[in-house]
Amino acid sequence: MKMKKLEDMQDLVSLCKRRGFIFQSSEIYGGLGSCWDYGPMGVELKRNVKDSWWKAMTFREDIDGIDAAILMHPQVWKASGHVDGFSDPLVDCKECKARFRADKIDLSAPCPSCKSKDSFTEPRDFNLMFETTMGPVKDSGSTVYLRPETAQGIFVNFLNVQTTMRRKLPFGIAQIGKSFRNEITPGNFTFRTREFEQMEMQYFIKPGTQKEAMEKWKEIRWKWHVDQGLTESKLRWHDHGTELAHYADAAFDIEYEFPIGWDEMEGIHSRTDFDLGRHAEFSGKNLNYVDQADGNKKYIPYVLETAVGCDRHILALLCDAYRVENPGEKEERVVLGFIPKMAPIKVAVMPLMKKEPLEAVARPLLEKLQTRYKCEYDVAGSIGKRYRRQDEIGTPYCITVDYDSLEDNSVTVRDRDSMAQERIKLEDIENYLLTKLGF
Ligand code: ATP
Repeated sequence: MKMKKLEDMQDLVSLCKRRGFIFQSSEIYGGLGSCWDYGPMGVELKRNVKDSWWKAMTFREDIDGIDAAILMHPQVWKASGHVDGFSDPLVDCKECKARFRADKIDLSAPCPSCKSKDSFTEPRDFNLMFETTMGPVKDSGSTVYLRPETAQGIFVNFLNVQTTMRRKLPFGIAQIGKSFRNEITPGNFTFRTREFEQMEMQYFIKPGTQKEAMEKWKEIRWKWHVDQGLTESKLRWHDHGTELAHYADAAFDIEYEFPIGWDEMEGIHSRTDFDLGRHAEFSGKNLNYVDQADGNKKYIPYVLETAVGCDRHILALLCDAYRVENPGEKEERVVLGFIPKMAPIKVAVMPLMKKEPLEAVARPLLEKLQTRYKCEYDVAGSIGKRYRRQDEIGTPYCITVDYDSLEDNSVTVRDRDSMAQERIKLEDIENYLLTKLGF
């Protein structure tokens, strides 16, 4: 059988719209630049991703979760360095007014947009934080920011978590939440957007142990991406080497080979004591840790951070799962081959026709199965069309109730990948799915 993987992002964009994964934000008003809404299928996929990350990161003895506010004290962003330094170099094309990140294009080449030569302005720093005002009076004292990363919500809660949870080093704090960056050149579907969700974990460690912590977390995070069903040969490490952010003494990215090329999906950063040190300085609070295991030595803990974009990981899952079988032929079919755990819908129940006796079997079956699984009930259209829809949203199993079911108390179970069909007794269905899906 011939098979084609995703080559053109537009094919994925259309599938996502057609099947209810991702819609353009405010679409009926013409859309809002680089903002996207997750539809009914997308939101299930996103929940699966977040659940999987949350389980992997917090169902362990050494990590607690939190959920901090998006709006934080403005001093937080002074201490973190974002007010002064969270900027990208921006150039404008003097001819067509298009804007680019100076570090992402060749400034000696013609403008990528209008092809004019020597038309760029000098690069200038552009701060990526969104500003808003708090309270009824709009003056300079009321400026607050939409957080550009979730990490700071963790740092400012270090002491709260450490004391309430009676934590000793090493321990971590995990959080999932929205971040906002006024990106100069967003795009490539949901790869770079201005509002996105991050899944971050800060692991607090004893200074001097950052190398071993890095090795440990590199291994754990790599395995997580593979366990999510991503093709391992499409993952690679990027070592930042000596090109490091001001807070880091080492940094590695997990990159994925998107149709637009290799790019970052997760960053693993050794952040030293920069953040806690700065918050201690700016807040005047004592953020020292008293190490009872080391003669009550006092020090600011070091931090090993794992930061993955939820939306970017979802984009990788969608790109990876997309395949066209028998392209251009009569039997062409598009499949999202998610692992069952990630599939938005686990089981589709379909009476062959919208007829009372068939529905009398199918509905109770649906009700039984949906106590455990997210299911879909579909009676509309030909069975072939219904299978095609389920293939395109990645449903691992379809169950058809036909007239024979009324005689033999059995149903047909169709496997998404092999398309093989099996007759299974109604009373055995739950066990069958448990074995096949693995949960
Ligand atoms: P980039 O170099 O792509 O701008 P970054 O190195 O600034 O990203 P981090 O601050 O380390 O990214 O953020 C951690 C993760 O958050 C990234 O690996 C990415 O998955 C996600 N992320 C960052 N910016 C965006 C964005 N604008 N849209 C979607 N996801 C993002």
